[in-house]
Amino acid sequence: MSFTLHGLAVSNGIAIGHAHLVSHAVLEVEHYVLPGRYVDEEVARFDQAVAAVRGELDGLMAGVAAAAPSELTAFIDVHQMLLADPLLVEATRALIRSRRCNAEWALVQQMEQAVGQFEQIEDEYLRERKADVVQVVERVLKVLMGRPGHPPKHGRGEQLIVVAHDLSPADTIQFKQLKIGGFVTDLGGATSHTAIVARSLAIPAVVGLHHARDLIREDDMLIVDGTRGVLIVDPDARVLEEYRLRKSALELERAKLRRLKKARAATLDGEQIALAANIELPGDVAQARAAGAAGVGLFRTEFLFLNRDGMPGEEEQYQAYRSVAEAMEGGPVVIRTLDIGADKNLRGVERLEANPALGQRAIRYCLAEPQLFLTQLRAILRASAHGRVKVLVPMLAHAHEIDQTLALVGQAKEQLRARGQAFDDGLEVGGMIEIPAAALALGVFLEKLDFLSIGTNDLIQYTLAIDRSDEAVAHLYDPLHPAVLRLIAHTIQAGRRAGLPVAVCGEMAGDPQLTRLLLGMGLTQFSMHPAQILEVKQEVLRSNLAELRRKVLRLLAVDDPVRLRQKLERLNAI
Ligand code: PEP
Ligand code: MG
Repeated sequence: MSFTLHGLAVSNGIAIGHAHLVSHAVLEVEHYVLPGRYVDEEVARFDQAVAAVRGELDGLMAGVAAAAPSELTAFIDVHQMLLADPLLVEATRALIRSRRCNAEWALVQQMEQAVGQFEQIEDEYLRERKADVVQVVERVLKVLMGRPGHPPKHGRGEQLIVVAHDLSPADTIQFKQLKIGGFVTDLGGATSHTAIVARSLAIPAVVGLHHARDLIREDDMLIVDGTRGVLIVDPDARVLEEYRLRKSALELERAKLRRLKKARAATLDGEQIALAANIELPGDVAQARAAGAAGVGLFRTEFLFLNRDGMPGEEEQYQAYRSVAEAMEGGPVVIRTLDIGADKNLRGVERLEANPALGQRAIRYCLAEPQLFLTQLRAILRASAHGRVKVLVPMLAHAHEIDQTLALVGQAKEQLRARGQAFDDGLEVGGMIEIPAAALALGVFLEKLDFLSIGTNDLIQYTLAIDRSDEAVAHLYDPLHPAVLRLIAHTIQAGRRAGLPVAVCGEMAGDPQLTRLLLGMGLTQFSMHPAQILEVKQEVLRSNLAELRRKVLRLLAVDDPVRLRQKLERLNAI
């Protein structure tokens, strides 16, 4: 039966494909449909993996001394029992045969079902046994992955649409390696880091769908309209055809935009505008270059720290930062120091804070962990010997935070001097303006720092008291709230007066509907996910700055939201 769900549009475009239901932690698993002739072999591969794990567990049991406490053997017993459970084993075999799923994919689907059943159990002890299910499955998966099967040369990977209750930024970043056509989630806000990663991957996505995970079955046919925030489940032939046409029209438009790649980004009256890229991993530089980015305006380094046990050391970080600096061939590269906390957590150090967005996040965390911070600062400084590197500090609000940061930069330099390692002594240090207090008391920022970058995602979150990852308050998240616009305009203008460069690197910079508004405020440096650069460039090329300035000044004086939107529409229609 066909039905439609509405959520928040977070990443433009249309994806058409089959549903793949997931929860966290299982995204690394390959999923493909087997050619019929390999099905028996696949079942045998699965049976062998189960037998191998049974052998491992027997070995463990034998290795435990007879006198060992019973808790030590109890978990092995539980795991052995689970390994013989028909829900896990028989049903996985059946799935391989009926759906021709590869063994890993079939097993993960069964695991999800078993975990779901455990979650229904009232008894807390038994409910917690779901962790054992996951552990046993992980053991079997490990064996399976060591003995790969027969993925077809052109798998269905590119048509898969991930359906999840929620995805963390750490989950989403893994899509970079997988070929995912699109994704939809029950939870999430439009400027959550999960959504930001989706946009940077240019894969259509809709979040905040509430019950998609319960209503959709594995393999259902789906259409994700990431522009309108619509998900169509099991569409009829007519709707499918219409969306196929719209998808090709969009692809055609994108192809046309690609012609702008080499065009100089300047307004009609000749003002040069810098359009830089936001990246999450060093590998994203290729996409930034392909879009003709003038540099990297925001490298969110925390993604190097996610999905792993332990932190990357100085050498590993240095290599990562250096590779970006070199790949940009003299273009500026703004490396943001670790912004961990809120919705991005290091593995194993999730903290139970009542309000994580207001807690020990970003620079607050780094100043509380000076050794970790110094390691990153040394790595960034060393990379500065290989290109035009700058460092950007997130979530600053207090003068003493700036002073402490600058002192630590000085200390990192001393350490490198003592080691005789090269770095750029004039490395520019910038601050993010993303807390309203910072925007309202810019004096110390202008005095002590070399440049500013406005993080509109957090600036909106903290100005309007809206958790950006909570879909329940997503309707209140408003970039056009007069208070937000005035804080942005004030920061840009104060920076201009003081002769300090100001950029915008939040999601507003990548929204072509807001390009003229920001230009009219006096912004000349934009940084956005590379997928948006050409669309924003098109707007820049059509704009007359002198005209915009006057109109935007008037728009900024408007309090009424309806009138303000009307004025914005008129601005965009000139
Ligand atoms: C912002 O807050 O606007 C920003 C660019 O940083 P992040 O989205 O990573 O918090
Ligand atoms: Mg931020």
